[in-house]
Amino acid sequence: MFVFKKVKNLQKYIQQKKNEGNIIGFTPTMGALHNGHISLLKISQQNADISVCSIFVNPTQFNDKKDLEKYPRPIVADIELLEKNNCDALFLPSVEEVYPNNLQSLDLDFGKLDKVMEGEFREGHFAGVAQVVKRLLDIVLPDKLFMGQKDFQQFTIIQSMIDQLNVPTELVVCPIMREESGLAMSSRNVRLSEKGRKEATLLYKTLGEAKQKMEQSTPKEVEKWAMKELSAPGFKPEYFTIVDGYTLQPIKTFEETDYVVACLAVWLEGVRLIDNDILKKA
Ligand code: AMP
Repeated sequence: MFVFKKVKNLQKYIQQKKNEGNIIGFTPTMGALHNGHISLLKISQQNADISVCSIFVNPTQFNDKKDLEKYPRPIVADIELLEKNNCDALFLPSVEEVYPNNLQSLDLDFGKLDKVMEGEFREGHFAGVAQVVKRLLDIVLPDKLFMGQKDFQQFTIIQSMIDQLNVPTELVVCPIMREESGLAMSSRNVRLSEKGRKEATLLYKTLGEAKQKMEQSTPKEVEKWAMKELSAPGFKPEYFTIVDGYTLQPIKTFEETDYVVACLAVWLEGVRLIDNDILKKA
């Protein structure tokens, strides 16, 4: 696996691969890699000729400085894992490389998409995400971009950015990888105690039970029930919202759209966890 720290060197490599007629697949990450990330790489390998991953903990998407400081950075293990899984190239840039002084700022309007859920609780988060993904896409110029359903609102906003700017990249959304217990894999899980990891299965359990309640309840009733479930000792829920999967806006009835998604964020042991489940899709 090639490891590039400089934009120039990565671009030379990618240009050569493109000239040879290869389809380029790209998976951006913030590192502390787990099988969720690797599943994206595997889907890239099935859909592209050359698979590039990046590891960059993007400071502009953290609204909480402590969260940024505490973000795990096991870079040696990450490189080993990518090598073991036959990643072709890793982009591992510094902050200066991603954000040179002369970089143009990105000012996009996502309408209501970034006003709810993560956007409501993490001010400026999606402006930072859009900024870094746009910059990475400008550098890598991939044919295909691989992102996880785990961050439902994130991929929806990136699709909106791609559409608004006519970026010639296809977004491929990949399913959520879970531990056997049902807990969604996340780089933040390493900050949970063993007990916390077990308790955190409550998130998936609540999503599953919410799905069953759809038949006989309104979205509001299910949300209210779920917030109570997620208020178990040690937990602090931020939101449990049932939304239209296209617009990300809360729905009043389960019949008003053919794409229904339940999204949640909770705090446990000082760690912020998110998860979601598609309750209905036509
Ligand atoms: P992150 O390193 O957390 O920024 O995540 C990088 C990419 O991996 C994003 O597109 C995430 O949605 C995706 N991802 C994170 N966790 C999972 C998971 N458990 N299953 C599938 N994809 C994931």
